[in-house]
Amino acid sequence: MKVKTRFAPSPTGDLHIGSVRTALYSWLFAKHNNGKFILRIEDTDVERSQHFSINSILEGLKWLGLNWDEGPYFQTNRLKRYQEVINIMLKKGDAYRCFCSSKKLEEDRKEQKRKGFKARYSGTCRNLDIKTTFPKDFVIRFKNPISGKVIFNDRIRGKIIFDNSELDDVIIQRSNGMPTYNFCVVIDDLDMKITHVIRGEDHINNTPRQINILKSLGAKIPIYAHLSMILDESGNKISKRKNARNIIEYRKDGFLPEALLNYIVRLGWSYGNQEIFSIFEMQKLFNLSSISKSSSIINMKKLLWINKYYINHLPLNNITHILKEYMQDQNIDINHGPKLECLVTFLRDRFHTIQEMTECFRCFYEEFKIFNHQRIEKYLVLDSCYVLEEAYKKINNLSIWNNILISEMINCLSVEIKVKKIKINMILRVAIINDIYSPSISLVIYLIGKKEVLSRINKTLFFIKSLYIKK
Ligand code: GLU
Repeated sequence: MKVKTRFAPSPTGDLHIGSVRTALYSWLFAKHNNGKFILRIEDTDVERSQHFSINSILEGLKWLGLNWDEGPYFQTNRLKRYQEVINIMLKKGDAYRCFCSSKKLEEDRKEQKRKGFKARYSGTCRNLDIKTTFPKDFVIRFKNPISGKVIFNDRIRGKIIFDNSELDDVIIQRSNGMPTYNFCVVIDDLDMKITHVIRGEDHINNTPRQINILKSLGAKIPIYAHLSMILDESGNKISKRKNARNIIEYRKDGFLPEALLNYIVRLGWSYGNQEIFSIFEMQKLFNLSSISKSSSIINMKKLLWINKYYINHLPLNNITHILKEYMQDQNIDINHGPKLECLVTFLRDRFHTIQEMTECFRCFYEEFKIFNHQRIEKYLVLDSCYVLEEAYKKINNLSIWNNILISEMINCLSVEIKVKKIKINMILRVAIINDIYSPSISLVIYLIGKKEVLSRINKTLFFIKSLYIKK
């Protein structure tokens, strides 16, 4: 049997971490088994389907590298096929037209509630003689078996049993002629030869209905695996409509796709105590039996830790390339200044995200426009001019340019002018990059380059003097 899985999102919101996990597990399971992974957009709920959401799904999956072997299929392109099957089912008596008005359904529901029964369709139209004339408005329902059980062996939860007496005659076509989710999903899984349905636990209740429809069509039942929920850091269920972030936002925040996938794979799946998995390893090791039944909780600290790991371990070229695009998006011109590879080589172990890197590296390519006020009062006082003038001379005199010599030069300067090294470092930091935090200042000076550093010191000197002369 050739394994075939699918990711079948309804385009009713952005692609979020929960949906990505479903896609990832389906993708990994297919890859692990040398099978196929398909993408299907379930868009028959036209009122709730949105174009931006389709874009978000496609963009997110592409960014993460979750490539599909077939599709994207759109259910709205398959309406003819659904109609064909509905006609067959009507003919065979496996489906029927239901003319009950919403008022009647509501009354039935109230009555059932009053009697203490579970609200469900009362079955009024189940055995109507359709030759009689009826109102034009109707839905089509599946004739669910009245007795017996539906039993399936969920790969994560084990044996699950539903009594048919608890299942409704599910609507398979709405009054506007549109087939419904529970029906389309069945026809698609059947036509697309899906062997394993991996999806969220919110679909467990749909599964027996879908199995019954499949049985009525004489189809083979796929294997089901229902994933537990993902909760946000406050313990709330992640939902498209409430608290879920578009996965693309993580790219904007400077996360790497490798890190995000590694983080997401561990939201419910484990392999001993191992935390770091390359894509290749995930494909090799992934299985359904090691997926946990309990819910998983988002942990930003862990995601940052994993992202830092990948920033440090991915090949230099990869990181430089991603960073370059990121910096360009921030309008930072990296053509004038140090080689980006150099900055990455020397400094990448300091950062958790590409965004942090970008912000830190900005000062290597851009002169700051104005000084931070508090820093002026603390570090750019008239006395600092002497320190800066002496540093300028020493930097200018360096004939060999490397950070060790720059560091030694600062040591000598400290002894010569009797100013503590720590103070000189701070004055130089503020003068050159207008910041009090930075990697080692000698390294910063080295990377920015002699000419640019001298020019920035000069500008700062001019600034301090103009400030005090005015006073
Ligand atoms: N379209 C459904 C959803 O977005 C998933 C259907 C399925 O996987 O069977 O929740």
